Parts: sequence; structure tokens; C-alpha cells
Amino acid sequence: MLRRLLGLFSEDLAMDLGTANTLIYKKKQGIVLNEPSVVAINNETGQVLAVGKEAKEFLGRTPARISAIRPMKDGVIADFDVTQEMIKYFLIKVRERSRFFRPNLVIGVPSGITMVEKRAVVESALEAGARDIYLMEEPMAAAIGAGLEVQKPQANMVVDIGGGTTEVAIISNFATAYCESIRVAGDELNEAIIYHLQKKHHLLIGENTAEQIKINYASAFPLDEPIRFSVSGKEVFSGIPKTIQLTDRDLREGMAEPIWAIVDAVKRALEKTPPELSGDISQRGLTLAGGGALLKGLDRLIHRETGLQVHITDDPLTTVVLGAGKALIDTDYYLKVFIN
Ligand code: ADP
Ligand code: MG
Repeated sequence: MLRRLLGLFSEDLAMDLGTANTLIYKKKQGIVLNEPSVVAINNETGQVLAVGKEAKEFLGRTPARISAIRPMKDGVIADFDVTQEMIKYFLIKVRERSRFFRPNLVIGVPSGITMVEKRAVVESALEAGARDIYLMEEPMAAAIGAGLEVQKPQANMVVDIGGGTTEVAIISNFATAYCESIRVAGDELNEAIIYHLQKKHHLLIGENTAEQIKINYASAFPLDEPIRFSVSGKEVFSGIPKTIQLTDRDLREGMAEPIWAIVDAVKRALEKTPPELSGDISQRGLTLAGGGALLKGLDRLIHRETGLQVHITDDPLTTVVLGAGKALIDTDYYLKVFIN
């Protein structure tokens, strides 16, 4: 009874704990937080200096004794303390009312996380004042967020390409029939661009520049109209600033390895799918979500390689948190998707 009553006043939340970005959805309000999963730490004292956007900004302007940590970088929790600090910080940031009103919380976690890691996530949420905590796997949240009918016996295929990991899942009957998580996603594309420019063009660029190049110019499939663009950095040997011209084709060659790793993971899933479910996928196609889904031409490449229809969700960067939000609104209906 008391629980019910408290529930009436609480501001229930859903959280997407991503390797690159953390998002929080609030019941009746929608997305109330969208920040990088980054924590800035003082190397000497171990003190947390800033979290999220602030941590990123902080970094551009500070001396070397401060480092930026992405505690979820590879889809596993690299640093428990830092992850806990981050989760608590974000949860407390979006709370408006007193601690008396303890919210219910749905949290999307990478499908590969261990029991110990799950416990760490739950503990931090409890410390931040959550009441009931429901964990769900991110590919499931992505499927629900994409509007797929996960409750039906038919197969739904989802490919969630984030920063640190790509998760390929086949979902049916509120359950995951197949899931593979590989540590190749947006970060690896950035790294491939850095490496390629260094090796082939003797140009040094930083991670942020690489990400901007990827977002603005990169494509996984030949463009209808090829493009040329310039990139500035430092010459490898002399360290002198230098600007070079690049083509989309050259960039694509540089990104080939991670792109094919993603395509191969999709093909592997199709190979391993039981025949009864294969038929559904051939009719319905697959759905791309996560920021990596925005890489130009990736849908066309996957279509060419698999023959399947490829759909991209309306807003790939928010699909998971919207799915977790739908589960939050009707936890009874979605009971089977939560991990106990
Ligand atoms: P996560 O769920 O792991 O936090 P996200 O789904 O938030 O990851 O996606 C973040 C990744 O998406 C980053 O690697 C980012 O560079 C990439 N990304 C964002 N926008 C684009 C774009 N327009 N084109 C290609 N990649 C993008
Ligand atoms: Mg994600």
C-alpha cells in the first residue's frame, strides 16, 4: 500500500547506460538527460572533478594531471568506482523532488555484462535513491524502442551499433533468441581513420577530429556523388601543421576493417538463426539502431551483403532509452524482458 502511494508521487526513470552516451527518460516528460558517459578525474588524488558534458569540456581546458575516463568503454565496466559515481551523478541530476520520493528505475545494460557488473549498477542506483530497479539488455530495449513487436512469436533482428560495442540480436516472444556482442563500433571507426591518415598520408589527427570526419564525410558504401574534403592535422615526422585533401573512397578503404567486422557479425547471426526464425527475418528485414547506424551507406552495404531490407530507426541515438521508457511505463506487460 505504502509502495503504491509512494509510486504515485515518484518520478520514475529509464536509463540507457551506453558506452559513449548516457540518456535518461522520465515518465510523462520524455528524455531529460543526454550526456557523454565520461568522468574527469584528478590523477593525483583520484577525485572526480566532473561528469558528462562538463567532464568533456573540462578536459579541453585543463592540464595533464586530469584524465577523462569512459568507464563503460568496451561494454564492460572497466572501473567500478568511476561507473558508480557516474550513475549516481546522472540520477541525482535529474531528480527534482526530495529524496523521500524514490523512483522506479529501468536500466538498459550491455548484453554482455557479468553478474558482478550488474550488481555494481544496481548498487549505485540504490545509493542514488532508486526504489525498484529493473535491468534489461540494450538490444531488447532497442527493439522495443524501434517499435518492433517483441511480444509476438515472430523473429525481429536488431543491430545496435554504439561507441564501444555492436550488438546483434534476434528477439522473439519477449526473449533474446540470439545475441552477439563485438567490441567493434563507432570508436573503432574513429581509430581506423586515425591510423589510416597516419600510415597512408603521414597526418596525425586527434580522436575528436576523426569523429567529426566520420560524421561529416565517411560512408560505408560508394556515394552517388563522390566527395572531396580537406583534413588538417600535424605532419607525422616534422610535427608541422598540414592540410590534405581526401576522398570518400580513400576514407572508406581506411575504415574497411571495422566496417566488415560489423557486416560479418550480422552474417554470423543470420547463419546461426534457426530456420523457423530465418523466414521472418527474410520477410521483415533487420533494424539498425545506435549512433553507428547513422554512418552513411551502412544500410546499403548490409542490404547488398545480405539481401535483406535494412531499416534505420527514427532517431538511432535515442532508440534504446525510448525502449527502456516504454518498458518503464508498463513494467507488468514487459515483465519478461527484465533480467532478475
Ligand atoms: P552507446 O550506446 O555505446 O553509448 P551511441 O548509440 O550513443 O553509443 O552512439 C555513439 C557512437 O555513434 C559514437 O561512436 C559516434 O561517433 C557515433 N555517431 C554519432 N553520430 C554519427 C553519425 N552521424 N555518423 C556516424 N557515426 C555517428
Ligand atoms: Mg547504446
